[in-house]
Amino acid sequence: MKTIGMIGGMSWESSLEYYRLLNTGVKSALGGLHSAKTLMYSVDFEEIEALQHKEDWGELSRQMTEVAIMLENAGANMLMICTNTMHKMADDVQKNIGIPLLHIADAAAEEIKRRGFHTVGLLGTRFTMEQDFYRGRLKDRHGIDVIVPESREMDIVHRVIYNELCLGELKDKSRALFRNIISELEKAGAEGVVLGCTEIPLLIKQKDVDIPVFNTMELHAAEAVRLSIREAV
Ligand code: GLU
Repeated sequence: MKTIGMIGGMSWESSLEYYRLLNTGVKSALGGLHSAKTLMYSVDFEEIEALQHKEDWGELSRQMTEVAIMLENAGANMLMICTNTMHKMADDVQKNIGIPLLHIADAAAEEIKRRGFHTVGLLGTRFTMEQDFYRGRLKDRHGIDVIVPESREMDIVHRVIYNELCLGELKDKSRALFRNIISELEKAGAEGVVLGCTEIPLLIKQKDVDIPVFNTMELHAAEAVRLSIREAV
């Protein structure tokens, strides 16, 4: 079995879930006492968040690359950045390591295409919803059209992610707000919605909304499990 390198802590609320998903995935594929071989470097998210909101992407890229190299040197055979937003640095990181980086947007895109969808709504941090590193990749590499919320609704989603979900607070009021925003995306033509932030699936489940949800964390973890056990099955 191959070892999965994880850059976690962004936030640790979702890293816990990643760890659970990797282990349950390997166990359900291989049975018995099998569990995932993982190496996780978990950052201090307060430091990361401050750099994100200063838009110091150069320093963030340097830090992500440093951690990725450490994980490779420690024996990881593949790398996951366990957050959507920090995939802004994915290309820089990949250039500096010799192991494959499993891109979270590609994992989501494969499932969207498998289900035959062409247009999806996207929820995530403002960085993920607005910038090209994520929606551009869905469009250019996978031919998937992306609809994002209006600016006022983007603010709500961004604020709830940083001020509640990353702190482990799951509020009914915020769930209701997210449900309304997803209905607006549906009215605008979204056939499904990409939960493009690894904490949103902690708040929104498939049963909460009418259109299919694409849980990026779950799809990312499933891809890592598939690759890690490929030679073992
Ligand atoms: N985990 C979130 C994401 O998937 C937000 C935290 C971050 O900014 O990295 O984008």
